[in-house]
Amino acid sequence: MRAMRLTSQRPVEQAPLKLAELPVPAPAAGQVLLRVLACGVCHTDLHTVEGDIFPLRLPITPGHQVVGIVEAVGEGGAGGG
Ligand SMILES: [Zn+2]
Repeated sequence: MRAMRLTSQRPVEQAPLKLAELPVPAPAAGQVLLRVLACGVCHTDLHTVEGDIFPLRLPITPGHQVVGIVEAVGEGGAGGG
């Protein structure tokens, strides 16, 4: 799968996001695998890319506002409750 990856934080003018080809992940228990159709970019993403917010690890694929199709469901189904 294609993803825009952040490996080091710096101003967006320096193009910190790089296109990468990654293996398609398998959903763990309680998770779903989405085929992302669209992804919004909010100011939290911009703060993360530029270093105002520190992610728990790097590299990451910024973007958390997605619309997609469920491709697979992890063991036990999605979510709890
Ligand atoms: Zn957001």
